[in-house]
Amino acid sequence: MVEAKKIGDIAGYEELPEQEYTCKKHGKYIGKPFKFGFINSVIGCPCPKCLEEDEARRLAEERKRTEEENEKRRTHWLTDLNIGRRFWNESFETFNAYTPELQHHLSVCMEFAKDPQGRKLVMLGNSGTGKNHMAASILKMTGGVIHKIMEIELLFDRTFSGEIHKWEIIKNLCETDMLVIDEIGRTKPTDFELNWLSYVIDKRHENYKPLVLISNKHLEEDCPRGESGCPDCIQKFMGKDTFSRITEDGLIMEFTGEDYRYKIREGKNV
Ligand SMILES: [Zn+2]
Ligand SMILES: [Zn+2]
Repeated sequence: MVEAKKIGDIAGYEELPEQEYTCKKHGKYIGKPFKFGFINSVIGCPCPKCLEEDEARRLAEERKRTEEENEKRRTHWLTDLNIGRRFWNESFETFNAYTPELQHHLSVCMEFAKDPQGRKLVMLGNSGTGKNHMAASILKMTGGVIHKIMEIELLFDRTFSGEIHKWEIIKNLCETDMLVIDEIGRTKPTDFELNWLSYVIDKRHENYKPLVLISNKHLEEDCPRGESGCPDCIQKFMGKDTFSRITEDGLIMEFTGEDYRYKIREGKNV
């Protein structure tokens, strides 16, 4: 490689005696003009303060460009994770674990996110109890994707127009690094929904892929109605077999706390 030459090494370079210049912006300064023998015209010395300012401007522009690129990458990343904008700036660090239950859930989720391989996690509880904040924090560490069950249903609807093939959707759900399915049981499931869900759960289990399920439903053993066949019992909803495949080696966390968002609004927990 040829080394870049310093200006003084160029043949015919000659420094001339110092002289006084005047910069319109910075006033008088002393500098050395120079010339190249082969051009034979004197080149004046630029104002050092102007040069400094140019350099500072260049660095600021470069920094801004880098920041914009980072922001764009981050937006892409969060969009791919499908995390709701509400949680873009949230993480385990920003989670307000103001009850022993939430402290416990937080430490379980943090531990899960560090080593999720082959594991399953079920988060049950009313909305606004912090489940989605946990899920977003997990995804930011593991990569993967979160989908509300409705979104997956809508994706399947697109197979009718041939935009996408069913198999492609199933394959993505089976293969993504981490799959979080939200709002399980929000609407009455179709047989097809229960089938693909069961298939995806099995397939991920076989391949040691982690899975997180989020639902407002409750465990049969905690059923407030105490009825067998209560439609809000998660076992009833998913089918006992499917649910026991998740729970035999998975973690179940129930979020029974007061409304987390309500708490924040009230500022009680600050
Ligand atoms: Zn100047
Ligand atoms: Zn029930």
